[in-house]
Amino acid sequence: MIKIKNSEQLVMMQKAGRITGEAILKARDHIKEGISTKELDTVIHDYIVKCGAYPSFLGYGGFPGSACISINDEIIHGIPKKDRILHEGDIVKIDVGARYRGFHGDSANTFGVGKISAEAQALIDATRESFFKGVSFAKNGNRIGDIGSAVCEYASSRGYGVVRQYVGHGVGSELHEDPEVPNFGTAGRGQRLYTGMTIAIEPMINMGTHEVRVLGDKWTVVTADGKLSAHYEHTVAITDGEPVLMTKVE
Ligand code: MG
Ligand code: MG
Repeated sequence: MIKIKNSEQLVMMQKAGRITGEAILKARDHIKEGISTKELDTVIHDYIVKCGAYPSFLGYGGFPGSACISINDEIIHGIPKKDRILHEGDIVKIDVGARYRGFHGDSANTFGVGKISAEAQALIDATRESFFKGVSFAKNGNRIGDIGSAVCEYASSRGYGVVRQYVGHGVGSELHEDPEVPNFGTAGRGQRLYTGMTIAIEPMINMGTHEVRVLGDKWTVVTADGKLSAHYEHTVAITDGEPVLMTKVE
């Protein structure tokens, strides 16, 4: 069931979104060679709690971290660990949720550690751009397929693999609500978008194949071919006009 948010609920979502976006920037400022993903997770946890919110991912389905932190060929759901250390040239994906007064924000971004390859930077840039292609269709009256087809067309035309097994989603009083928001689809098809819907649009774009596999820890999703993957996500409110990016703070 799709939950349409009223204006008071949207105010809470905007606050949750701001905390989420700021937590990612806090973590970004700590990214450097030699830091562990657990240390980044602690930065995120402490910031969210300081803001009077709660890390949405902590304990979700038994997840042990406050953020999902995934390196290089890891696409999503990487578990923060003390012995998982960032190295120069890595790309790291930081995916954060914060719940504030009963509403969640959900956002992810990909950052380079020190100097990264031109290919890695191009993948990060294209992933971000594919989000903006998609979100430009996130308006009252359009359809979910308009978003996914725009994301997919942009990324595929550059030779990248678009992850299909994991998708975006509605977000609100629950971290994952209806509808699903795939990064592929057919323009003009799928669920219609209405003012007051809040959705997480989150392209996961691979350097090679779109195929994925899940590691033995039952969480970490990696590319099947071991090539790099990038992730970019914002929580978006549908309006009659331009979409509002609730987790975008800069
Ligand atoms: Mg997320
Ligand atoms: Mg999400």
